[in-house]
Amino acid sequence: MSEPLTVTGIVLAAAPSGEYDKRLVLLTRERGRITAFARGVRRTGSPMMAAANPFVFGQFVVYEGRTAYTLAQVQATHYFTELASEFPGVYYGFYFLEFADYYGREEKPEKDMLNLLYLSCRALVNPRLDNRLIRCIFELRAMVINGEYPNIFSCALCGSKEGLGVYSASRGGLICRNCLSAMPKEESGISVCEALVYTMQFVASCEMKKLFTFTLADEVLREFEMVMRRHVERYTDKKFKSLEVLEMMLGQRV
Ligand SMILES: [Zn+2]
Repeated sequence: MSEPLTVTGIVLAAAPSGEYDKRLVLLTRERGRITAFARGVRRTGSPMMAAANPFVFGQFVVYEGRTAYTLAQVQATHYFTELASEFPGVYYGFYFLEFADYYGREEKPEKDMLNLLYLSCRALVNPRLDNRLIRCIFELRAMVINGEYPNIFSCALCGSKEGLGVYSASRGGLICRNCLSAMPKEESGISVCEALVYTMQFVASCEMKKLFTFTLADEVLREFEMVMRRHVERYTDKKFKSLEVLEMMLGQRV
């Protein structure tokens, strides 16, 4: 057996495996997204039972095998058990985990995504923050971290930093009002107000700990939701199962 390795990370997913085991997907700072088998954790009294669950952050001691890792020990720092009773907050949380899983790769450093997930989970259990806003902020910043973010600092057509007023999915970002008149009608995008332009620029570039420190007027938030929904649909090639569940819960279209 290989030497034990300690990684810092979060459990993104946990599925039963065999009679008493679980197959975990971990997002780790050191090794990126890895699969680890937690043997015997479904036996009563297993010391790792509580830790082999989604949303658990901590240090994981693993042994590297040929195709997967084996989990030997967990020192959990946060369980986010309070999130389980948040409704529909926990469904937002599962969506964030699936989103991180989508972008996760083995050996890809995930320090920023881990930090974003941690702050987003904390935000979800904070009753003063609107889950819809947390979702938009999470999606935008996660896409920035993974290099798929909309062009929001200058017009995608002419490069102007002034008069940005429309989001176009086909152009991958904001375009200015001057260029809008030259666009074919079928490419018409989503009108965005100045407050949203500023908000998106802030979310894309601010210090991570400042992400969840503001609120938005409802009409601005609605625009933010429309832009992020369109952008995620266009620039990810996956239907997120947890998102379908969330939107069903919220009575929105899927
Ligand atoms: Zn322009």
